[in-house]
Amino acid sequence: MAPAPLKRSAGGDATGVASLVVAPTILHVAPHPDDEAVGCPGALLHLRDRGWTVVSLVASLGFSGQWERRRAEAEDAAERAGFVAVFLDPPLNLDLDGDLDLATRRVAAELPAIVESHGASIVVSPSPHDVHHGHEAVGRGVQRAVAALPPTLRWWMWGVWGDLPAPNVYYGYDVGVLDRALHILDAYGGELERNDYRPFLSGRAAANAVMGSERVFGFGSPAASAHPYADLVTEVRLVDGRFMASEPHHLDQGPEPPDRYDVDLTPWLDAPTAHELVGYIREVREGEVRDEAAGS
Ligand SMILES: [Zn+2]
Repeated sequence: MAPAPLKRSAGGDATGVASLVVAPTILHVAPHPDDEAVGCPGALLHLRDRGWTVVSLVASLGFSGQWERRRAEAEDAAERAGFVAVFLDPPLNLDLDGDLDLATRRVAAELPAIVESHGASIVVSPSPHDVHHGHEAVGRGVQRAVAALPPTLRWWMWGVWGDLPAPNVYYGYDVGVLDRALHILDAYGGELERNDYRPFLSGRAAANAVMGSERVFGFGSPAASAHPYADLVTEVRLVDGRFMASEPHHLDQGPEPPDRYDVDLTPWLDAPTAHELVGYIREVREGEVRDEAAGS
């Protein structure tokens, strides 16, 4: 069966649509195993349903004593989702006391070849401002990698621990999709035991449906969808070396032609994070709370 592309303008243009039609692949970069189930799972499942290949790159596996369990959980989750699991080898060390700059450099250096080997046309990751130190380190690395990849590539950023200031893609979904996302998240029994993210997943998706309507399409806009849940991402693409935001759109509608990309998000992406401005605030180091400093 031929994979179904996103519904976009017939005939394509010079923006990479043709490659989407031939081999649509989206590559999700999870700083921790479980982030692919939390960041924008509804949108990933939708593309999977449409025939896209969803590659789930897992960048870290927690502390070395956890590697085996967390890798097994990630493989189970990928099987449940129908995603292709890929693991950075060796896993990144995203501990607060680890070398986070090294983690960023490794993502920047290793991601381009992974993107190219899978022929991915979209890369998904946390934004570099996602508050959790591991998410920010990976998001910053993805930013550098995207800057080195062809400008046809689209980069989606989600916000889990930190809000996105400028989401521009809305995907509304129903309880059936939410249940599938929860089923994927359920593969991470070890993490859910520490802190149960299931109500976070459903509550955040419900909040996204309401506030996302206005934050994506403009304050004062009506509800964007009749569905009770939504995923939001910020989509950018490199135009003349700048990270330009897509026009606000529903996932299936695709962005407007690139000549309308006039919001330059580069200054936001390049801006220092809150941590870089004021230092770490609420981070817990290994041994302080149940040896689980890595968090989600
Ligand atoms: Zn995480």
